[in-house]
Amino acid sequence: MAKFIHTGEKPGKGNYSCTNCGTNVNLGEQDKMPPCPKCTNTSFSRE
Ligand SMILES: [Zn+2]
Repeated sequence: MAKFIHTGEKPGKGNYSCTNCGTNVNLGEQDKMPPCPKCTNTSFSRE
């Protein structure tokens, strides 16, 4: 089951996709999840 990650969390290094538009966001170890660059959605799933 998918675990959702939200804007402002630090989920760790990896690829995440916006649950609204599917845009890919790549984060490093210490990066905070930004809002989706396309639709400003704040919910993501780990790829
Ligand atoms: Zn989006």
